[in-house]
Amino acid sequence: MHEMSIAQSLIDILKEEMAKHGAGTLRSVRLHIGQLSAIVPDSLSFCFEVMTSDTEMEGAKLIIETIPLKGTCRECRLTFEIKDYTFECPECNSTEIDTIAGQNLSIVEMEVE
Ligand SMILES: [Zn+2]
Repeated sequence: MHEMSIAQSLIDILKEEMAKHGAGTLRSVRLHIGQLSAIVPDSLSFCFEVMTSDTEMEGAKLIIETIPLKGTCRECRLTFEIKDYTFECPECNSTEIDTIAGQNLSIVEMEVE
């Protein structure tokens, strides 16, 4: 499962951050997930919950926000939200689109004790 390895790398990053701040307990983590990253928030939450049981991260809440996919048209430089995976400029109908957001997962905020 795709989300399993994502949860694992997330846990690795969080562990490192907690060690850096001398934190003992993780309360919550806010994540931004790009629409194009193909991550299913519910599966990620589930994997995270399973993989953190009996660790210092047990019970931590994952707050997942999905970030819409955005692109810039190479022809007219218009920046727009890409809907339904239609990689076409709404202004000039060009298909030369650079995606600029919505592809990655990032940790926005973490609350520790
Ligand atoms: Zn255009």
